[in-house]
Amino acid sequence: MAKDKSDDLTSAAGISKQVLRRVWDDVQNNNLKLINCPDHRFVKVIQDLQIRYMCTECGGDIDSHAHYWYQHGLKHGINSIPHTTKST
Ligand SMILES: [Zn+2]
Repeated sequence: MAKDKSDDLTSAAGISKQVLRRVWDDVQNNNLKLINCPDHRFVKVIQDLQIRYMCTECGGDIDSHAHYWYQHGLKHGINSIPHTTKST
C-alpha cells in the first residue's frame, strides 16, 4: 500500500489513522455547524481543564481565542451601524 502524508502525521503523533480520521470528521462537522448557524449564542464550558464556548443554537464549539475575536467583531459591528437622527 502506498504511503501518504497522513502516515507521517499518525506516526509522528502516535495515533492511528482511524483516530486521525475521527478527529478530522469532528472538526469538519463542527465547522459546518458554525458556518450554518444563523445566530450564535455561546456559553462557557470547561472541558478537560480548557475553557471552550459552545453555541446553544447550533451545538458548535470554539476555543477562548476564537470567542474573544467573535465578541470583538460583534462590538465592532454594532459600532459600525449608522446612528439615525431624530426627526422633529
Ligand atoms: Zn451557533
